[in-house]
Amino acid sequence: MTLASAAPGPAAPGTSGNRPLPPIPPGVLREVVIETGAIRDNVAALRARVATPHLLVVVKADGYGHGAAAAARAALAGGADWLGVADLGEALALRRAGVDAPILAWLHAPTEDFVDAVDAGVDVAVSTPAQMEAVCQAARTVQSARGGKASAAVQLALDTGLHRNGAPPATWGALFALARRAEEQGLAAVRGLLSHVSNTSPAEDRAQLAAFQAGVEQARAAGLRPELLHIAATAAALSLPETRLAMARLGIGAYGLSPFDGDPRGLIEGLPLRPAMTLRAPVAAVRPAEAGSGVSYGFTYRTTQRTSLALIPLGYADGIPRAASGRGVVTIGGRRFRQVGRVAMDQFVVDLAGVDSGVRVGDEAVVFGDPARGAASADEWAAAAGTIGYEIVTRLGPRVTRTVIEATR
Ligand SMILES: *Cc1c(COP(=O)(O)O)cnc(C)c1O
Repeated sequence: MTLASAAPGPAAPGTSGNRPLPPIPPGVLREVVIETGAIRDNVAALRARVATPHLLVVVKADGYGHGAAAAARAALAGGADWLGVADLGEALALRRAGVDAPILAWLHAPTEDFVDAVDAGVDVAVSTPAQMEAVCQAARTVQSARGGKASAAVQLALDTGLHRNGAPPATWGALFALARRAEEQGLAAVRGLLSHVSNTSPAEDRAQLAAFQAGVEQARAAGLRPELLHIAATAAALSLPETRLAMARLGIGAYGLSPFDGDPRGLIEGLPLRPAMTLRAPVAAVRPAEAGSGVSYGFTYRTTQRTSLALIPLGYADGIPRAASGRGVVTIGGRRFRQVGRVAMDQFVVDLAGVDSGVRVGDEAVVFGDPARGAASADEWAAAAGTIGYEIVTRLGPRVTRTVIEATR
């Protein structure tokens, strides 16, 4: 990973996207550029909009492909006070990278050993009585090793209808009783209750919120005093204010992409969010082609005029969705060109729409990035592939050179 410094100098939040990126370094064939300042500014803007007492930024899956530790630090700089990850391995990696902010992890192996989590002060989201027992066992181990009374920090995950993680309502009573007993024994402290909504419709999400509130009441009746109540991810936090509660868990919005499937900019319009990730490559070849020339496997595209074709050295092994074949858009020299023919494992072709496009080998081709700089957004590529921006940014392959531009202010 290379570290570059952005041009220093003051800029108002949300305007740094107008600065051009440094050029692709010599010898680099494929590059993803991460701007941590964008994550920081997005989090600050979301925090101002959502205005919950606490804000958790989700940095699972290597920070949605942006780099977990860099994303975590940027999120904290933007005003987040919690970080969220799927699993404990991700949480412990952040601790090893020196991130000491509160972290919550919610997806555990059936045989998970929670000792390292308790030891590292990672909050564990607990969905089952068996997990609660395992966490208590870990707390006992840590206590006897340290001779102290370090108790496990627990947040109880309630399934309010998604049927994924989280305790089903029929098990809430047993889970709450077990958690309360663990508190009395000094093994665990229940810091919060959480759930997750489906984004099916406002009515469905409100029904889940009502179920959650019932769960909160039941937990209180069982003697628990959870302070961190949270149910909203980016979509609900932006579109359904009553779901904001004590904390929101924001993922995709922090990276400057839309949570709204099929509505690329959607409700994030009006917020100064900008994508933190740019995927680009130098044009590897430029070829003239007669009208009627077939392009790439299966000749799914034939040129309609005398034209020239540019080769972009990124393929599905690098995260370009093959399903977007013939529908993607690439920006070269500020102009948008159509990606044509099948995306291959290592490369794809764009039609330069004429013989003399002015595009030369070595020119920068931006696959996706910040629309304010003229790039297509990852959301556009997602729409072209019939998927969501989340999948585009989290699936870049290991061959892509990563450059992190650290915020300098
Ligand atoms: C991934 C995830 C989030 C973040 O969702 P976004 O839509 O990216 O904001 C929040 N909560 C849980 C439990 C998650 O798994």
